[in-house]
Amino acid sequence: MNLHEHQAKELLRTFGAPVPNGVAVFSPDEAFAAATKLGGPVWVVKAQIHAGGRGKGRFKEAEAGEKGGVRLAKSAEEVRAFADQMLGRTLVTLQTGAAGRVVNRLYIEEGAEIARELYLSVLVDRSVGRVAFVASEAGGMNIEEVAHDTPEKITTVAIDPEAGVTGADCAKIAGALGLEGEGIGQCKELLARLYAAFVKSDMSLLEINPLMVTKGGKLVCLDAKVSLDSNAEFRHPEWAKLRDLSEEDEKEIEASKYDLAYIALDGDIGCMVNGAGLAMATMDIIKLFGAEPANFLDVGGGADQAKVTAAFKIITADPKVKGILINIFGGIMKCDVLAAGVVAAVKEVGLGVPLVVRLEGTNVEAGKRIIAESGLNVISADDLEDAARKIVKAVKG
Ligand code: GDP
Ligand code: MN
Repeated sequence: MNLHEHQAKELLRTFGAPVPNGVAVFSPDEAFAAATKLGGPVWVVKAQIHAGGRGKGRFKEAEAGEKGGVRLAKSAEEVRAFADQMLGRTLVTLQTGAAGRVVNRLYIEEGAEIARELYLSVLVDRSVGRVAFVASEAGGMNIEEVAHDTPEKITTVAIDPEAGVTGADCAKIAGALGLEGEGIGQCKELLARLYAAFVKSDMSLLEINPLMVTKGGKLVCLDAKVSLDSNAEFRHPEWAKLRDLSEEDEKEIEASKYDLAYIALDGDIGCMVNGAGLAMATMDIIKLFGAEPANFLDVGGGADQAKVTAAFKIITADPKVKGILINIFGGIMKCDVLAAGVVAAVKEVGLGVPLVVRLEGTNVEAGKRIIAESGLNVISADDLEDAARKIVKAVKG
């Protein structure tokens, strides 16, 4: 689960990390009021979307003007004017894809005088099984390029979970950030606070880019991106109000209600599979035969008929889907339960695209009988390769 920048900063503030003052707003009037409350002389108007690269992004609509998703304003009137231009408009950045994201809220922040822009992030480094800091002096808007072209400018320091952030860790990170004198002490304090925020809030990613050094020599988190680990949702009831459904895929929201592991993708073949490994293999083989999957979907081992019906409805409701491949290897999952779920869904919502079904395993004969007797127009397949070949042919001709 991702947070908006203003939510991430509010969270960091509760851990004592230095962030600028700011107010989240939903209308030009609120933006004006926020600017007045913050006081000037300079403000930053920041589009709140779940994607980075906003500074260099551009809006689709001409009414939004030439500037990007992060704008410097010199008066409260200008803050209101920017808000009027940006709200309700579609921001396209390197991370949004061509479709872009509609900006529904802004963050109005007090402007800062930047001396240097650094990069600092905290993540779970799976190669060492530890939380790690990633630091670089080359912060700002081009960190992906830095990582690609000059990886030696990026330093990774893994943290021993028992010791926490040690003096040696701090020295390494402060060195990588090019900090000296007072900066080193500030860095030490910042690292301890960010580490506590990361661990206690069950984050999976915390990225500060830029971490700014002000002209007065202070370290301040100027941008903040936070991903929370959804597996820890059960112990964070406070997360519910942070979720912004307008930033999530509607089909994924629906799937989450039924506890289905579903990810929307860009292709045109809908997939209904049980088991994550089999789902991955099914997506691979669809690609092998020259088509693209419209989704990843693992209906899970113990899926009942209601869950199967819900899953099938989510797939058929996707206008991108030109054909559906059901690939079930019944172990705990029973083929007859799957078949009954699919038939029930088709009865409710109809079926306008070709459907290839490959069933194997527990109760396979009963499953095949249910589908045969339903009168459904199904292309049946004997194995995975046969199934993939048939659905690609049905869709592409
Ligand atoms: P991103 O492009 O989505 O990563 O958005 P950021 O929050 O990182 O903002 C992009 C850039 O805008 C930063 O790298 C800064 O150079 C600039 N910026 C952001 N806030 C301020 C500010 O308060 N004052 C000034 N002068 N520049 C800012
Ligand atoms: Mn940034």
